[in-house]
Amino acid sequence: MNSTPRAEIGVIGGSGFYSFLDDARTLSIDTPFGAPSDDVVIGEVAGRSVAFLARHGRDHRFPPHQVNYRANLWALRSVGVRQVLAPCAVGGLDPSFVPGTLVVPDQVVDRTRGRAHTVYDEPGAVVHVGFADPYCARGRNAVITAGHGQDDLPVVDSGTLVVINGPRFSSRAESQWHRSAGWSVVGMTGMPEAAIARELAMCFTSLCLVTDSDAGVEGDSGVTHEEVLAVFGTKIEHLKRLVREVITSLPAHEADESASCACRRTLDGLRLPFELP
Ligand SMILES: [Zn+2]
Repeated sequence: MNSTPRAEIGVIGGSGFYSFLDDARTLSIDTPFGAPSDDVVIGEVAGRSVAFLARHGRDHRFPPHQVNYRANLWALRSVGVRQVLAPCAVGGLDPSFVPGTLVVPDQVVDRTRGRAHTVYDEPGAVVHVGFADPYCARGRNAVITAGHGQDDLPVVDSGTLVVINGPRFSSRAESQWHRSAGWSVVGMTGMPEAAIARELAMCFTSLCLVTDSDAGVEGDSGVTHEEVLAVFGTKIEHLKRLVREVITSLPAHEADESASCACRRTLDGLRLPFELP
C-alpha cells in the first residue's frame, strides 16, 4: 500500500490552480469540523511538495459565507502543511489599483459575521492567539520579492484587506466608508481563513488580485461577478507563475521547529483542548 503523501506548502485558491501540480494525488480528508471544500490534491511544484485545495470546491459550490474555513485549514495541516499561500479576488479601494494589481496585505479588518471563526470553541477552551500582525512576514517577503519586475502583475507590498460577509457586493456608501478608513482592498474570503491559520500555528500569506473598483466609481453600475471572473481569468497564468516562484523560494521545514517562523510558535505555552494534527 502506498503511504499517504505529505506536503509542506499549501495553496488555497480557485480551480484554475488544478493544472499546477505535477504527479498529483487526490486525498479525501475528513476533519473534526466536517469535510473541507473539496479533496486535497498533493503533487510537486519545482521539486517541492505542495497541497492544493479549491476554496469554493471545484464546481464552485460554496459561496464565501459557506466555505468551511476550519475544515480547509485543518485538512491542510493534517497532511503536513505549515505554510499557506492564499490567492483571492478583491475589489480595489485605492483608485491607483488597476485591475490586475496584486496587493500583499499586511493588515486585515474582519467585517464578516455568522461564520465559524475559531477552532477553539469547546466549553472550557480558552485559547487567545496573537493576531497583531495577521500575515506571515516571511511569506509576504517571498511574494514581494518574486513580484519584482513582473510588469503584467504589478505588486503592491502592503495594505489593509477588509473582509465583508457577502455574498452581495458593497453599497456605494459602504465602499466609500471602507475607502475613507484608509483600507486598501475588499474581499469576502480573507476571514476567518487567516485567523484560523494562525490558530493552527500555520504561516499564512494572502495574495489579493484586484479585479474591479468595488462600488467606488461614480456613474459606474458597480462590480459584477462576471467582471471578477473575467479579470481573474486573464491573470490566472501570471498569478500561477508568481505562486510557483514563491513556492521555490519558501524555506523548507526546519529540523529545529524553535528556529522557525514566529507564526509557528503562536501556540507555545498555551494549553490546547486537543492535539493538532
Ligand atoms: Zn510565518
